[in-house]
Amino acid sequence: MDIKKVFVLGAGIMGTGIAHLCAQQGLNVVLVDINEDILKRSISNIEGILNKRVEKGKITADAAKELVGRIKTSTDKKEAAGCDFVIEAVTENVKLKQQLFAELDEIVPAGIILATNTTACSISEVASATKDPSRVIGMHFFNPAVVMKLVEIMPGLATKPEVAATTKELVEFLGKEPVVTAKEGIAGIASRVLAGMLNEAVWVLEEGIGTAADIDKAMKMGSNLPMGPLALIDMIGIDTHLAKTRTLYEKLGDARYRPCYLLEKMVHAGYLGRKSGKGFYDYSQDPPVPTVLR
Ligand code: NAD
Repeated sequence: MDIKKVFVLGAGIMGTGIAHLCAQQGLNVVLVDINEDILKRSISNIEGILNKRVEKGKITADAAKELVGRIKTSTDKKEAAGCDFVIEAVTENVKLKQQLFAELDEIVPAGIILATNTTACSISEVASATKDPSRVIGMHFFNPAVVMKLVEIMPGLATKPEVAATTKELVEFLGKEPVVTAKEGIAGIASRVLAGMLNEAVWVLEEGIGTAADIDKAMKMGSNLPMGPLALIDMIGIDTHLAKTRTLYEKLGDARYRPCYLLEKMVHAGYLGRKSGKGFYDYSQDPPVPTVLR
């Protein structure tokens, strides 16, 4: 594989996980976000995970140090010029993604793939901001990226088949299982199917049919899920989940994706889930307790 250095744009939940995964597999990474504090928090999150692995004897302290050493952080998108593959993982907002893809298209040499980790933005719409949409593709990692086996690859209407093939090769190199969608569809496969279930859980909470703890317990024990839907939305991020559900509702017009107003209130109140310390559960308590959401 010719890919040795990966550019990751966005150092939030997903960008951090993707950078960690790439470095774990021996690739050099340039991780870019808008400010140093975000980048420091991202590296410290990776170090936190690695320290636990060192304590458990899963990796050596030297290997952990080398892994982190392969991740260079920067606030300068021009660093993308020297990279072999670009993965964008910024906030779920199509206008922002388009603006950044237009910039990346100028910076990154022809022939280098520009991938987006978007959940529900249209790949073709993001690609339309570039001069060469044939090199743009959806590459959807799941959270946490280091742990989850699946990466969904979704070509846009103009994506070249070679671009999907190389992206698949990278996914396999990263030790993941690729699923390449036959064509572009809003939110691909796993996120679309899951979104309906997650959305229903919020409505069941809003209607007062069960507490967050009961809804999660019912779904875990009644459907054999590893975690409950509300705890999962907290892990995804309330803002990210809302943006994705809104897009599905707007594009498909199907009531099953109609976002509950509760989600909007939570975003306004800064209850963004685990990343802000509070969502459907309050993570300042150990174990977390359901948040009072009136
Ligand atoms: P996040 O809110 O944790 O992080 C987004 C990051 O983007 C932030 O660090 C922010 O500072 C950065 N950013 C915003 N504008 C930027 C700019 N102009 N330049 C550089 N960085 C910028 O979000 P996330 O959960 O990591 O999601 C990122 C993308 O991945 C979204 O498109 C989301 O839909 C998708 N995704 C999320 C999940 C999940 O479970 N959270 C899973 C799969 C895919």
